[in-house]
Amino acid sequence: MNKISIIGAGNVGALCAQRIADRGYADIVLLDIIEGLAQGKGLDILESQPVSGLDTRIIGTNRYQETAGSDVVIITSGVARKPGMTRDDLLLTNMKIVSEVTRKIVDHSPQPIIIVATNPVDAMTYLVRYISGLPRNRVFGLSGVLDTSRLRSFISEELNVSVEDVFACILGQHGDASVVIPRLTTVHGIPITRLLPRETVDRLVERAIKGGAEIVGLLKTGSASFAPSASIAQMVDAVILDKKKILPCAACLEGEYGLRDTVIGVPVKLGRDGIEQVIELELTDEESAALAGSADVVREMVKVMGL
Ligand code: NAD
Repeated sequence: MNKISIIGAGNVGALCAQRIADRGYADIVLLDIIEGLAQGKGLDILESQPVSGLDTRIIGTNRYQETAGSDVVIITSGVARKPGMTRDDLLLTNMKIVSEVTRKIVDHSPQPIIIVATNPVDAMTYLVRYISGLPRNRVFGLSGVLDTSRLRSFISEELNVSVEDVFACILGQHGDASVVIPRLTTVHGIPITRLLPRETVDRLVERAIKGGAEIVGLLKTGSASFAPSASIAQMVDAVILDKKKILPCAACLEGEYGLRDTVIGVPVKLGRDGIEQVIELELTDEESAALAGSADVVREMVKVMGL
């Protein structure tokens, strides 16, 4: 049986556990630093398995020994930005958490595939790769699947077409410096630039990029977790089921797009070995320049972390 460990049993981690448990293809270990939290949520999910008719096991724990031999590990542990906290404060706080978590993961699972969700995700993915020493195909982060899912929802709503017919192309850093490519964002192959006025495209793009903040604003406490966990589950499907699916992920680049030794969102082919190929899109000079600018934002964060 496949084994998947999820570090952090908060909103995103617990929902990931539930979504993956519903797939029925892996035993799950849910781990948190808070005593009882992962145990309680794990038990609750376990008790839903008979109703779902699934025999996979799920346990909650505070001990990394339980994660030994994981095929895939998902990192969702970290803190969200609190009032008064700067972006650098958040970066350095989550750096500490993610460094410690990564060391413990690889102490018990020597060759896992690690999917990083903790923000700022591009910098955290770089950090996990750095600390774990894993090859670049085995470490990647959640960015584009969520961002494009948000944009696809808004386009489908605007044009009254099925979400299945909408494809969106978003590259670069996960956040304000992301690079949306409207000419490659299509409805059944037709670019949205031909279907919608420019102002509408700009409005939908802006809403997608600021999608996380919109939800935080509504919730007041906590942040998005349903769409993020659905996105992570799709990435896990691609790996566990060896789907060779092309999904936009935060990936370590080694010369692709003219960029090296950095992590940003690009389309990658995901299969049992993780990233099996980085897909290089043909970009205009303007798009390439925007992508390089986006990579600089991540480089700056890596510098702040002192790596
Ligand atoms: P949350 O606060 O609900 O959960 C975080 C959990 O991490 C908590 O249960 C906490 O106890 C645990 N934790 C903290 N330090 C730990 C440690 N050292 N070891 C083990 N567990 C530890 O937060 P959430 O809403 O689940 O979000 C989790 C992270 O995912 C945040 O950084 C958030 O910004 C990020 N996120 C990223 C994306 C993305 O697109 N990349 C989307 C959504 C959320």
